[in-house]
Amino acid sequence: MSILVVADVADDVLLPSTFNAITAARQIAAHANCEVHLFLAGHQFDSSLEAASRTGCERVFVASSDCLADRNPESVAATILAPEPNEYTHYLFSSSNFGKSVAPRVAAKLDVAQFSDVTAVCGESTFERPTYAGNVILRVEAHDKVKVLTVRSAAFAPAPASETEVEIQASPAVEHPNRSRVKERFTDTSDRPDLASAKIIVSGGRGLGSKENYETVLNPLADKLGAALGASRAAVDSGFAPNDHQVGQTGKIVAPDVYVAIGLSGAIQHLAGMRDSKLIVAVNSDPDAPIFGVADVGLVGDLFEVIPQWLATA
Ligand SMILES: Cc1cc2nc3c(=O)[nH]c(=O)nc-3n(C[C@H](O)[C@H](O)[C@H](O)COP(=O)(O)OP(=O)(O)OC[C@H]3O[C@@H](n4cnc5c(N)ncnc54)[C@H](O)[C@@H]3O)c2cc1C
Repeated sequence: MSILVVADVADDVLLPSTFNAITAARQIAAHANCEVHLFLAGHQFDSSLEAASRTGCERVFVASSDCLADRNPESVAATILAPEPNEYTHYLFSSSNFGKSVAPRVAAKLDVAQFSDVTAVCGESTFERPTYAGNVILRVEAHDKVKVLTVRSAAFAPAPASETEVEIQASPAVEHPNRSRVKERFTDTSDRPDLASAKIIVSGGRGLGSKENYETVLNPLADKLGAALGASRAAVDSGFAPNDHQVGQTGKIVAPDVYVAIGLSGAIQHLAGMRDSKLIVAVNSDPDAPIFGVADVGLVGDLFEVIPQWLATA
């Protein structure tokens, strides 16, 4: 019996979240005394296979076919479950959009429960996961024979690359008669680090007042710090920042080394997405703003004065 980690891949790059999921799998494997295998589904793999062969997983499988080009979740789920005999005790996905769309389909096909957003492994069948926007941590026990989990990347350190290379094994692709198809794909062409895995994030809220201010105030600071840009939901809803910048309960969950929160109040739903950051710096004109309750460094002041001063002295 083994554990299968389903890889996150984009544009032939094995995404960092895959390495976090492998760490979670390794922790389960230490309790269950079993192997960890990796599965890639998609098409036109090249350099991602090289990276996959050096993840330290005992076996690596790839299902590569044009029918998986869009990584449609129905087809990917059917492809993952296709090999016979199927002897996995755990299926692990990262809590990315891809993982969150495939994992429930795999769980439904297996007729088992799915455990979402796992943040700690306590045993072979016991895991921790947050609820109530991270204010309560549940310890849950899985009773199904097969466990399907999505794991929160920020909660597990990335697995180190291995010196030993394993052979990649081909696995059959299964085309599901989809009711949906991808018509167009928009890719963020920004040179900035990926928000989900960035080491430094500069995040702005409604206090910035406009899209123009969001860009003119935050861009120079993010450039200087080599940071990714984030935003509160209010900033996104007001059109200051694109949707994929949103941090929080209904946005991205991040845990960078440094999180700079500018002109955002620190509502509970925002904190749910960034409270695990190692160092939180907050700039807000309201000394009672909840963000100061979690900030390591807080500056009470008008962001339109404070940020230019910071840039001038940095
Ligand atoms: C189900 C649900 C899910 C949600 N999910 C999310 C989520 O994922 N992410 C998220 O962020 N929110 C989420 N929200 C919304 C959340 O409740 C807040 O409404 C939102 O986070 C507020 O954003 P904000 O802090 O930018 O705005 P505000 O609360 O309006 O705060 C603006 C802050 O800017 C400060 N400010 C104003 N002017 C200046 C200035 N010149 N200089 C310095 N500071 C200034 C103010 O003092 C204030 O603290 C969710 C809500 C619900 C109900």
